[in-house]
Amino acid sequence: MRVTTTFAETRAAARGVTALVPTMGFLHEGHLSLIEAARERADTVVVSLFVNPLQFNEAADLDRYPRDPERDASLAEAAGGDLLFAPSLTEMYPVPPVTRVSLPALGAELEGPYRPGHLDGVAVVVAKLYAGLAPHLAFFGRKDAQQLALVTRLAVDLSFPVEVVGCPTVREQDGLALSSRNVFLPVGDRATALSISRGLMAAADAADAGERSGAALEGIVAAELADAGLSAPDYVALADAAMATRIPALDRPAFLAVAVRVGPVRLIDNVRLEPEGSADRGCRLERPSILYTRGA
Ligand code: AMP
Repeated sequence: MRVTTTFAETRAAARGVTALVPTMGFLHEGHLSLIEAARERADTVVVSLFVNPLQFNEAADLDRYPRDPERDASLAEAAGGDLLFAPSLTEMYPVPPVTRVSLPALGAELEGPYRPGHLDGVAVVVAKLYAGLAPHLAFFGRKDAQQLALVTRLAVDLSFPVEVVGCPTVREQDGLALSSRNVFLPVGDRATALSISRGLMAAADAADAGERSGAALEGIVAAELADAGLSAPDYVALADAAMATRIPALDRPAFLAVAVRVGPVRLIDNVRLEPEGSADRGCRLERPSILYTRGA
């Protein structure tokens, strides 16, 4: 796989419709599903690999973030990637950025209070990737639902000529959402962690059966977590899909999200819900529908 290290070289190498798949590397099936989806829709698939210091709110978390760039290159190529854009820190940040990119309306809740600065760091790096690589399409996982809302609205608000595509969460056979951080999950904590997806799936079933109350849906997840000994999650929240803000009832596109510490690892997961039924299937063009329906 061709590895590029500068924005200019990557832009020059891209031909036709270009899709970007931003990652922090240590690729797993979740990332690969994004690359495969991009392959189906674009002439050139650029996979970016950059562990972005700006989005780590703890230095220790950045230091121990798992890395394996050679394995990433061969996996990305096998999944259909054309270019692996692996910029140095100085290519990405030639000088420490003083420009702030912030979407307070989308970043105040859920991850916001628990990871100060994280979402702003994501917004800066994604804005740089949109601007510096000029992709026509950008693929993100619904696993990080708040991030997906943010990178979608960022493109709309700042007129980046990119269409954002959101893709389903890839899970292990037992339901655990894939994450690069799962390598830090001790074997003994895995059964406990499975309560997260079990709770979300039970809540999705309840929504499919007609449950619309946010409190009731959140309660289903919280009860499943508590049964497994996870009685103090950071949050269990039904949120508006476009704004990532808590809503009292499932009356619009939404996601039911969880963040909880399991042993040494903080895990996040969510399930996408629609008033018409749960909807975690297929990659879809994201539209911040609230923009068009509610004038926000
Ligand atoms: P990361 O390398 O963790 O920054 O993730 C890069 C991209 O992969 C983001 O768009 C994530 O939402 C997506 N992603 C991470 N885990 C999964 C998963 N289990 N299924 C689908 N997409 C994922």
